[in-house]
Amino acid sequence: MKQFLSRRSFILILIMPILKFIIKPYQVLASSKASDESWNLSKEEWKNKLEPEAFYILREEGTERAFSSVLNNEKRKGIFHCAGCNQALFTSETKFDSGTGWPSFWDPIKDSIETKVDFKLIVPRTEYHCSRCGGHQGHVFNDGPMPTGKRYCNNGLALNFIPG
Ligand SMILES: [Zn+2]
Repeated sequence: MKQFLSRRSFILILIMPILKFIIKPYQVLASSKASDESWNLSKEEWKNKLEPEAFYILREEGTERAFSSVLNNEKRKGIFHCAGCNQALFTSETKFDSGTGWPSFWDPIKDSIETKVDFKLIVPRTEYHCSRCGGHQGHVFNDGPMPTGKRYCNNGLALNFIPG
């Protein structure tokens, strides 16, 4: 009996890291904190401020359907702003057609975004968000064009485009 228990404990110790790996993606990730105190709004305040789809992406780290955003084909000169707080995040000079169905950029405006690792699709991905309000924007991958080699895959609903 004693031997049986210790064997069971041993097996548990062995599978714990695997269990953790399986459970982790199902944990609800709170959205990132606002660096600017005046943008540190409650969930209710954000709900009142944003359309439901934008709330889902910016504050609950959702993802819009591929090819659903009009910004995917936006080719004019201008600035892409955070749909949460209006901070400028990307310029049209860094936008490129990635073929993924989401607006894609190879470099953000300096200091406008922050990153963290998430496990929503089990494989770790680098999430990025607006540095001012903490609103989720998208994920960054290492298969983008030069000069950075980065691909910032952004939700169109998380952006406001201002041409000019
Ligand atoms: Zn913002």
